[in-house]
Amino acid sequence: MATYTPPIRDMQFVMHELLGVTDALKAMPPHAEIDADTLNAVLEEGGKFAAEVTFPLNASGDEQGCTLDKTTHEVTAPKGFKEAYAQYVEGGWPALSCDPAYGGQGLPIVLNQCLYEMLNSANQAWTMYPGLTHGAYEALHTHGTDEQKRTYLPKLTSGHWTGTMCLTEPHCGTDLGLLRSKAEPQADGSYKITGSKIFISSGEHDLAENIVHLVLARLPDAPQGSKGISLFVVPKFLVQPDGSLGARNPIWCTGLEHKMGIHGNATAQISLDGAVGTLVGEPHKGLAAMFVMMNAARLGVGMQSLGLTEVAYQNAVAYAKDRIQMRSLSGPKAPDKPADPIIVHPDVRKMLLTARAYAEGGRALSLYCALLIDRELSHPDEAVRRDAADQVALLTPIVKAFLTDNAWLATSHCLQVYGGHGYIREWGMEQYVRDARINMIYEGTNTIQSLDLLGRKVLADNGAKLKKFGQLIVDFVEEEGVVEAMQEFVNPLADLGDKVTKLTSELGMKAFGNADEVGGAAVDYLRVVGHLVFAYFFARSAKVALEKQGTGDPFYTAKLATARFYFAKLLPETASLIRTARSGVQPLLAMDEALF
Ligand SMILES: Cc1cc2nc3c(=O)[nH]c(=O)nc-3n(C[C@H](O)[C@H](O)[C@H](O)COP(=O)(O)OP(=O)(O)OC[C@H]3O[C@@H](n4cnc5c(N)ncnc54)[C@H](O)[C@@H]3O)c2cc1C
Repeated sequence: MATYTPPIRDMQFVMHELLGVTDALKAMPPHAEIDADTLNAVLEEGGKFAAEVTFPLNASGDEQGCTLDKTTHEVTAPKGFKEAYAQYVEGGWPALSCDPAYGGQGLPIVLNQCLYEMLNSANQAWTMYPGLTHGAYEALHTHGTDEQKRTYLPKLTSGHWTGTMCLTEPHCGTDLGLLRSKAEPQADGSYKITGSKIFISSGEHDLAENIVHLVLARLPDAPQGSKGISLFVVPKFLVQPDGSLGARNPIWCTGLEHKMGIHGNATAQISLDGAVGTLVGEPHKGLAAMFVMMNAARLGVGMQSLGLTEVAYQNAVAYAKDRIQMRSLSGPKAPDKPADPIIVHPDVRKMLLTARAYAEGGRALSLYCALLIDRELSHPDEAVRRDAADQVALLTPIVKAFLTDNAWLATSHCLQVYGGHGYIREWGMEQYVRDARINMIYEGTNTIQSLDLLGRKVLADNGAKLKKFGQLIVDFVEEEGVVEAMQEFVNPLADLGDKVTKLTSELGMKAFGNADEVGGAAVDYLRVVGHLVFAYFFARSAKVALEKQGTGDPFYTAKLATARFYFAKLLPETASLIRTARSGVQPLLAMDEALF
């Protein structure tokens, strides 16, 4: 059986010692009064909820999955999910970072992200029910009319209603321009929506009174392609003027997908048979409105993978200390036992440290990004808000793709630490590997994230956003380059920074000649930039750890050891990635399709 202990100490390190979150929040009027004690208290309570309420439902939820009653179209989530959700709502957790104008607690996103990491470690499938709600909340908060906000936001904030995002159709996933669902305008200003959606997470369930679907569809006069898509809010139960629930809207779950992981989350096939909805944002501008939700969801997917990396690591370490096999190459380490614990073997340590480094690096990056979002939303200075938004735009595809690729590697390594026992269900490791796999696919596959980073965020922007982030590295290198003890971190960071600059301009030149060059290099490029960002945070973490080493707290010794491991064993991957990125697209296009 797996276990889980919320990594509160490392979260506090990142928030208070690395990012100086409370000082940063003081500059944002809505958060100016928040102190470290408040943040810490919420972390403790959130961790308790995750570890005690949803974690015990993770394996049983995976075993049971969801069930659909085909006559009523109602879905029942695994045993205990509904009760856990009721407790979540009662505890006020859905409202944590929502707008007080709609009943929210108005706490910062950076705190909410910590909560989500813990919830995802505990039970990714369960967490997707409230997780998608948050995305729907954000889309309506940004683009909804006053009436839509009044109708939906208080209930989404309290968690009494949940949300979904309905984009995918059988013939269109990545390419939403192919979308066929139709919206017919009605005399009363509403729309009747008809179409088929598939793969809709949390698309139907018994956790909440109502489900608020955000649906992409085409108006009758819509232009072809992605410029003709509009966004609609379509509730499962229509909402009466007094806010009470009215008639059942004809938006039905017609099937549940049988899938590799996240069995506890209902992945629904949805049929809309003239379902009543209202337009969100402007006609034909639905994709832009939906992007608010998609960007939030992309960061959310990064938190899913961070959560899985952490919980897999914790369990693999415990196992490696306990399991005895073979003797250490350098002589017995546990002579009183018939063999040594496997944690003495260098390669077992490499697998464990890889997972640990991916968890710690991922936490630093994602909380940094969350604090940027707080700045973007709440800082009084327009220039600071714009700068934060630029950084979020650059880092979002990295959080989504780099963290989810890393989690796939990390959970697989952690499974390997168990040997054959990792492949057996009772230990819980194989579930983490299965659950982690989807994170590389949904919310835009990781290839699409890479194209977004290299094509849109870097090249189309003449490298401006990348340069801004690069400047943080240059400043850090300049400041710390003179400190002897920091050389081992600063030198490889500076070196990689230079290489990324050169690689970016080389790819930019090649892309002028042949746009396919972007597609040939993007995935490697994102991984290189992901490492650059991680190296920056590991170097900053090492600086703090070096300064605090004198305290004798083993936390800092371990932090330093993880940073050293990262620079020695993981960062060098960039050398081969840069070579493959530079080798161009030709080897990928050379073979005729007929020869495949
Ligand atoms: C469990 C699960 C939950 C999901 N939840 C939701 C949800 O809540 N709401 C929702 O709307 N959707 C959801 N999805 C759908 C998900 O977002 C899509 O599966 C995903 O966007 C990919 O679309 P697709 O499956 O049609 O693959 P395709 O778009 O057919 O892609 C197939 C392959 O081609 C590649 N590819 C496509 N275009 C390009 C390109 N231009 N360049 C390079 N490579 C390319 C892709 O990267 C991929 O490897 C979910 C899917 C699953 C499996």
